[in-house]
Amino acid sequence: MRLLGLRYDERSSHLRGAAAAPPAIRAALHSGASNLWAEDGTDLEGFLEDLGDVDPGTGDAALDAITAAAERALAGPALFLGGDHSVTFPVMRAVARRHGPVSILHFDAHPDLYDRYDGDPHSHACPFARVMEAGLARRLVQFGIRTLNGHQREQAARFGVEIVPVDDWDRWVPDLEGPCYVSFDLDALDPAFAPGVSHREPGGLSVRQALRVIHALRAPVVGADLVELNPAQDVAGVSAVVCAKLVKELAARMGKLSA
Ligand code: MN
Ligand code: MN
Repeated sequence: MRLLGLRYDERSSHLRGAAAAPPAIRAALHSGASNLWAEDGTDLEGFLEDLGDVDPGTGDAALDAITAAAERALAGPALFLGGDHSVTFPVMRAVARRHGPVSILHFDAHPDLYDRYDGDPHSHACPFARVMEAGLARRLVQFGIRTLNGHQREQAARFGVEIVPVDDWDRWVPDLEGPCYVSFDLDALDPAFAPGVSHREPGGLSVRQALRVIHALRAPVVGADLVELNPAQDVAGVSAVVCAKLVKELAARMGKLSA
């Protein structure tokens, strides 16, 4: 399982800081406070191939640099560490080049379907509008959403986005067909579990509710991202530890499903 850090937060609308996330997640992952075993019995020692970080620069060239780096990483299953959520569109371009349109499971407090945000079509509030317009997804299922406004409700209807209702969070079972991609915005979790994000949105998922869905994935997952950790907003590093846990469980599940 390849691991690639994307040190990019230029498209974050409210606070910068997510570019510092990849080293913070790595430090938590390799901390002596825990081990590298996933709950399913996978030993991630020697299983994770760390490709290091990419600093893609600025402007639209940064998006192309992310696509190019992601396409190289995607020679096999790969996990991308953001970065703000704008990295997902250029990563998905690379996924589609390798695999064609895929099914996407998107964890987030926000649907990220704005047509434009602050005038920017590539804001971290917009990646899934761009993904759907470009035909990069066969299906987009969103989990953890609790901030829909009128515009984004219209966008979801226009693109046929499936949003799992809050009341179904404890029982919904992922029914996606492969190949799949998982995009995990840390603010899907309740800020009580992961305060280290730029947009704290109460009423979110517990770590265990998110893990239940990850463990229930049944189709091959060709790629995943974990985005929006903002270490400057974190409290005692707890959110970075949550990210390390998500990396372990996602990587192990991806490994099992592609084996
Ligand atoms: Mn979000
Ligand atoms: Mn997001």
